[in-house]
Amino acid sequence: MKNPLEILECTYKSTPEEITKKFKKMAMKYHPDRNSTLDGNTKKEYENKFKEINCAFTYLKKNNFKYDSSRADFDNYSNIFASKIFKNGIDIGHLFQNIRNINFDSIANNILKGINDFQGIYDNSNSKLTKTDDVSINANIELFDIYNNVKKEITIDVTKKCSKCMALGYTIDTKDECNECNGQKIVKTTHELSFYSMFKNIKFKSMGNEELNKRTGNVYINLFCKKHPLFRIIDDYNLLYRIPILQKENISHTNEGIVITKYIQFLDLKNYNIIIKNPATSLSLFYEYEIEEYGLYIPTKTRGKLVVEICDPNNYIGHSYIQYGKINKTHNYNVSILNNTYIQNNVYNTKKTSIELNCIN
Ligand SMILES: [Zn+2]
Repeated sequence: MKNPLEILECTYKSTPEEITKKFKKMAMKYHPDRNSTLDGNTKKEYENKFKEINCAFTYLKKNNFKYDSSRADFDNYSNIFASKIFKNGIDIGHLFQNIRNINFDSIANNILKGINDFQGIYDNSNSKLTKTDDVSINANIELFDIYNNVKKEITIDVTKKCSKCMALGYTIDTKDECNECNGQKIVKTTHELSFYSMFKNIKFKSMGNEELNKRTGNVYINLFCKKHPLFRIIDDYNLLYRIPILQKENISHTNEGIVITKYIQFLDLKNYNIIIKNPATSLSLFYEYEIEEYGLYIPTKTRGKLVVEICDPNNYIGHSYIQYGKINKTHNYNVSILNNTYIQNNVYNTKKTSIELNCIN
């Protein structure tokens, strides 16, 4: 296993000053800018060595210049260092692109300064850093879009550490104000986020704001359904559709019994007849009938229910049963007449109640 002290040609007895001195010396020796005249292979070797010593030094710096071989976390750190820092568009060339052609007497100090800021400002893998406050967005979505799981895209403005000056605000070499962030260290940028409407809460990890010396925050999008004239969401994934029986025309008498028929254009843009045969009836209760798979998408790829609620304030249903003589007199029911209105409690007919959704186009 690699040992960061050995990489820097130091020992367990080395002091922080000695380690830093050694690092400066090696950084100068292996810095890519000092070795541009070397042949390809040696150049590559030096570049790798340069990365290795930078990694070893940042590790030791982070751990107060101590290395405990029993912790065995240096390999892991090296991997993270290599993947997060050198691959994420911030490769070593990028890191030093602004300090080309500088006076090499001061390069090691500049590297130190760069590494120091780099550590605190860029190292998003450092969980010790506080996370920038998350961004939470509430979005109102049409029920139609939720039902059909329509893909949505939004653009958000976020702040980012300036990558051109490594959030120093100036160019390391010339100390000139950075022309990307105008010395602010932070720049504004936009993120395009896309999501599907079936999800209530969507998390976009590390897509939020980024403040100096902090990790990047997350973005949360919370979807809310806009009010719909016909349907209401209940129990998260079910849809409630209320049918008020305001006229007798909805009720017919067939050889299958009393039938309620209601035409509806549904959220899938198809036309249906909702047919309820032999509905239960009572003045004081709403009756609910459930149709599976016509509710909203549940993330397990099924759908919730469409709940049809019959509301019959004038007791047209009860009246129809009496009119057509289909109430089983031995069944538990109670009819009284009050101000010419039938009031019925617990009146059920003996035929089977059912609901169908018949597509008519
Ligand atoms: Zn800048």
